[in-house]
Amino acid sequence: MSASAEEVGRLRAFVGEGFEVYPRSVQVCGGVRLGLVRGPEGKLLFLSIAVPGFSGSPHRGGLLCPLTPENAQALVGLVPELRPRRLPPGPSFGFGDRIGLATPGHIRACAGARAFPVLAQQSVRENARTGRTLEDVLVHAIFGAFQEGYQGGFGADADHVKEVEDALHAADLGYTFFTCDPSDHAVAVERLPLAEVAKRFRSLPDADRLRREYLGREFILDKGALRFTEEDLARAAVKYSRAVAFAVEMYRALVARLPHGFDFELSVDETETPTTPLEHLFLALELRRHDVALASLAPRFPGAMEKAVDWRGDPVHFRRELRAHLAIARAFGPYRLSLHSGSDKFSLYPILAEEADGLWHVKTAGTSYLVALEVVARVAPPLFRRVVRLSLDRFPEDRKSYHLSADLRRLPVLEGRPDERLLELLAQNDARQVLHVAFGSVLKSPLGEELRRVLSEHEEEHYEALAQHLGRHLKLLEVKDDG
Ligand SMILES: [Zn+2]
Repeated sequence: MSASAEEVGRLRAFVGEGFEVYPRSVQVCGGVRLGLVRGPEGKLLFLSIAVPGFSGSPHRGGLLCPLTPENAQALVGLVPELRPRRLPPGPSFGFGDRIGLATPGHIRACAGARAFPVLAQQSVRENARTGRTLEDVLVHAIFGAFQEGYQGGFGADADHVKEVEDALHAADLGYTFFTCDPSDHAVAVERLPLAEVAKRFRSLPDADRLRREYLGREFILDKGALRFTEEDLARAAVKYSRAVAFAVEMYRALVARLPHGFDFELSVDETETPTTPLEHLFLALELRRHDVALASLAPRFPGAMEKAVDWRGDPVHFRRELRAHLAIARAFGPYRLSLHSGSDKFSLYPILAEEADGLWHVKTAGTSYLVALEVVARVAPPLFRRVVRLSLDRFPEDRKSYHLSADLRRLPVLEGRPDERLLELLAQNDARQVLHVAFGSVLKSPLGEELRRVLSEHEEEHYEALAQHLGRHLKLLEVKDDG
């Protein structure tokens, strides 16, 4: 629990002049007063007495500790609520933070929300782009939660992990949620002629078993039944047999490393065509055969699921496919359906809320980066202009690994635009996508440092903007009340 005003005053007196205290962070734990403070050189953790495990510099009988991974570890030892934990039953929401300054805003967004937050969530690819590490992402989430005095529990998702070693490394750091991305082992059957698919199917080592178990059978789900034709089975098996083997390998390695349990998501969202219910059923059956317990599965949903803009497509078709995927997730788990690229999919949230009955996980990240840029556009227009120019320069390269429809010819013109109309760029879909995909280029360039400085100087504004925008996500998902 956060401390009383009196305790905050005591900590202020303890730490002395020259430091600003974050009042929500102040706590008393087993005789130690602790809190997050901000001095001339940035944020520090203050302890009223030296405690073993923490390292820092002595200060007025206490200790001023830098926000290092070692001190984060020591802090979760003292305040166990700050240790990432497994997802409880019910809906959950991933707040990816590309910059490393957003967690307090994310916590404010989920105040009063009936969804469990995942506060550390960056993929290996995103970290490569921003020059961050799994450890750094987790440390920022822990200190961000501490700053807000948040003790409601949170998850940590090692997102889109493609190597078993990366999953084990994340486990050693304290991650509890692992998103296995087997796409390097999947085959794009969509591009193969049927004869080739059939030939490849016949050469699978367990083609005979698959035929016996899948063909001529009805798989009864809550509303209806699914059947595989020879072609359906061949396509699903050729596409995903090696991917399943890889997921099983990662899962078993994690079981050995984390015998007390963890959350395991399978993500097949980054494919060219939507995941069919039959493909999902194949994955569910094969994973069950190997005793892999899923916490969630991320299919590729139909329609255009592009970064940082609303979904486009046929909502009737989406709802029908969602129901079919949910029937499988209920029968084989139940596990959650995970909506990736979940930022700003405002037209989908009500459908998800209505159909999934809490059996969902939504991942966002890019939208928080755009909220940060919105703050920069308001408080530091010249810096925002430089970010836009750099993002445009890098767009041909940065767009490559994303599905985007951004058209540079539709972009609002930057030159000659008055400062008070810069925000219009963040309301225009093409511009949003150009800005979104450049996050790595921007954060790794010298602009990244300036951006962090401006956001730190205007942190309350940054947190409130995040709370507003992500709060809107949670309201449309019907896990947060209006007002
Ligand atoms: Zn994904």
